[in-house]
Amino acid sequence: MKRLRNVKILATLGPASSDEDMIRKLHAAGADLFRINMSHSSHELMRTLIGRIRAVERECGRPIGILADLQGPKLRVGKFAEGSVTLSAGQTFVLDNRDEPGDSTRVFLPHPEILEAVQPGHRLLIDDGRLQLLAVESDKTSITCTVVSGTKISDRKGVSLPDTTLGVGALTEKDRADLDAVLATNDVDWVALSFIQRPEDLAEVRKIARGRVGLMSKIEKPQALERIDEIIELSDALMVARGDLGVEMPIESVPGIQKQLTRACRRAGKPVVVATQMLESMISAPVPTRAEVSDVATAVFEGADAVMLSAESAAGDYPVEAVTMMASIARKVERDPNYPGIIYSQRPQPEATGADAISLAARQIAETLNLSAIVCYTSSGNTGLRAARERPNVPVIALSPVYQTARRLSVVWGLHCVVTEDATDLDDMVDRACRIAFREGFGKPGDRIIISAGVPLGTPGSTNMLRIAYIGSDGMTGI
Ligand code: PGA
Ligand code: MN
Repeated sequence: MKRLRNVKILATLGPASSDEDMIRKLHAAGADLFRINMSHSSHELMRTLIGRIRAVERECGRPIGILADLQGPKLRVGKFAEGSVTLSAGQTFVLDNRDEPGDSTRVFLPHPEILEAVQPGHRLLIDDGRLQLLAVESDKTSITCTVVSGTKISDRKGVSLPDTTLGVGALTEKDRADLDAVLATNDVDWVALSFIQRPEDLAEVRKIARGRVGLMSKIEKPQALERIDEIIELSDALMVARGDLGVEMPIESVPGIQKQLTRACRRAGKPVVVATQMLESMISAPVPTRAEVSDVATAVFEGADAVMLSAESAAGDYPVEAVTMMASIARKVERDPNYPGIIYSQRPQPEATGADAISLAARQIAETLNLSAIVCYTSSGNTGLRAARERPNVPVIALSPVYQTARRLSVVWGLHCVVTEDATDLDDMVDRACRIAFREGFGKPGDRIIISAGVPLGTPGSTNMLRIAYIGSDGMTGI
């Protein structure tokens, strides 16, 4: 199964897409990896979903990435006696530590650390900013606020604190338990960390994860942007989490931040996912709006590694249509005459490493000679990442003997990942590359490919060799 596009599609699973048949359909329609949202999934449901994804993977023979998204310190108010209350601008409203139903004067905030951290002058945005409060007084047990705008507040609504740096680490107790359950499956490729604020938040998770999953930092707090370079350095990937970002920051700053982050990740050679409300109206309609199509197209033109579907695939009425639509937009944009120029204008300089020098040379040779594919052997995944960083104009096949590597690379721009044993010698390496390029539909007998590898074979970090080869009449090497 060959995808005719570079950008990858990450689809969130949920009530509309948890049975195996729907997962199979979403994958067939173009989903390259799946997100399991730990905010809404029990550990048992997570394991069931993983089992179903792996069954689809076995069936189609293509590596599929799985991302478990940890909820993070998502704050919520308690409940109200009447389910909801109506407030008016200018009135006083209190959030406190009393675990009792709320009314129009107060509500329980079940986060003692927040009651301590909020200072007078900080904004509290309830329900994605629909209700705005301004803290005027705070002691350690309550925050007294003035209602700035909005009127309605109901049970368990989310609270965003754009002005407050939270004292809590990135992992809540729930996250810790979820992360343990994720790691225990030994079958999850990426973990997404919500509401990351500082590089230190990652260090803690990295210690627990010990390389068993890739760490994807969700950028959705203004505090994270202040130290974004360090955060990228410590992350394996980034998500532009535009939903919460657009609540915590002025919504009009989100497109610029998206550009800043997609470019920074490309320079660093780390995958970046653009997420949230990409085809939002397809939750309840079979076709998107023009604005949504444009939004997906923008992310593709920016060279994002992946675009994400949230409720569209998890809880909407048209999950398959949403994936299909995303895939068609991607294919169309990537064939637009302006696409190569836009992608190339962002090309970063190679770093002074073998992998980068080889990746640059492989791209130049492949483009100059109009070769059918670049085939790179990558066991850790690093060579695959560096090859993708070049954003070549020819397909890239990433061959890895390690299942986890192939699955993890499924989020990366342009990489067609194949699991294969390590080559036994140079001849086997060339034969194997030609055979796979032929079998996977990237070339026919007589076509040429370029192969990058590290000799001695199977030594990570040793990428040092390029070889041009013909696909022979039997799909093997000719020369
Ligand atoms: P969420 O993250 O869907 O888990 O909230 C994405 C976002 O905030 O955009
Ligand atoms: Mn979020």
